[in-house]
Amino acid sequence: MSGLDLSNHRRLVVKVGSSLLVDDTGQLNRNWLENLADDVADLANAGQEILIVSSGAIAIGSSVLGINKQRARLEELQAAAAAGQVQLVHAYQECLRRHDIAAAQILLTPEDTENRRRFLNARRTLEKLLERAVVPIINENDTVATEEIRYGDNDRLAARIAQLVMADALILLSDVDGLYTSDPGASEDAEHIPIVSSINSDTLAMAGESRSDVGTGGMATKVQAASIAMHAGCSTVIASGVIAHPLRALIDGARCTVFSASATPAVARKQWLAGALEVRGELHLDDGAVGALGSGGSLLPVGVVAVAGNFRRGDVVTLKNASGADIGRGLAEYSDEEATRLAGLQSDQIEAALGYRGRAVMVHHDELVLFDND
Ligand code: GLU
Repeated sequence: MSGLDLSNHRRLVVKVGSSLLVDDTGQLNRNWLENLADDVADLANAGQEILIVSSGAIAIGSSVLGINKQRARLEELQAAAAAGQVQLVHAYQECLRRHDIAAAQILLTPEDTENRRRFLNARRTLEKLLERAVVPIINENDTVATEEIRYGDNDRLAARIAQLVMADALILLSDVDGLYTSDPGASEDAEHIPIVSSINSDTLAMAGESRSDVGTGGMATKVQAASIAMHAGCSTVIASGVIAHPLRALIDGARCTVFSASATPAVARKQWLAGALEVRGELHLDDGAVGALGSGGSLLPVGVVAVAGNFRRGDVVTLKNASGADIGRGLAEYSDEEATRLAGLQSDQIEAALGYRGRAVMVHHDELVLFDND
């Protein structure tokens, strides 16, 4: 029995490594991908939302362009990524279409997940795709990401995506079925670890010694990815993808390592907000807005009576009630200038006030925490 019941997880990020998808000659393993798409369709039919982070662009593109990956310069690899990505995503599109599932391509650089303003943009787009049951196929935007500013491996990218969309589980499919106490290829005493409930120096040491897969990210980056995800309330699974139906196998109890998160994504997000050190401004709310937030709603411009401070979209702001008490915190969807212009307006007046369409809320309910004042 695996330590993770996938059916309990509403939103899953699945990371597919190059070595599973592309053979040594750079040919895409179509059969494997069709089987994965069958698994994705099963989960989607059970009401689960799936995002796929897939590598493989450089491997496929290198064969298209006749580039030797080992000897190639950065710009050659970037060209290979451009040529390979289009084939990669097309293959996903075709395999998912057999199940009437639409795919969407998302290419990101670290700026898009580390900068809070862009983080919110990427997040809203992904939410819209998931609402429409589209499966996002995500990769690093290798053609513009240079050495100093890359994620470099898709394990960490996948963890950032899991954090971004508040996924409940991150599944790292690779050519190993989990974490071992030492390199299982080199030592017969290597023991498989089924569950990790907190990552400490021992875990990191084991990851350093464990066999790494042939992609960019070895076991150490997988453990780092698990750490990012766990902090975001997302459990991580390292499982073998070297089988025909890897997700089905996982559901049936295939061996894997589960890094189990103690909090839920929503709780982790609120803890992060509550502890954020940089608070850039204030939004003063009327009683109606305070009541709406109390019942789980978002903060709309109409409920804002005053704005203070210098902030940009994505910055943390304090929420204050009519008597000036701090009632919570949230991520501002607008800058202080825009918020000032919008304060007191109905959502359908936003476009006229700003001169562009804008967003309906001032602070989204997923991005706010209310303090316990009494
Ligand atoms: N983004 C790279 C690609 O699609 C792969 C990075 C990795 O192997 O993790 O080829």
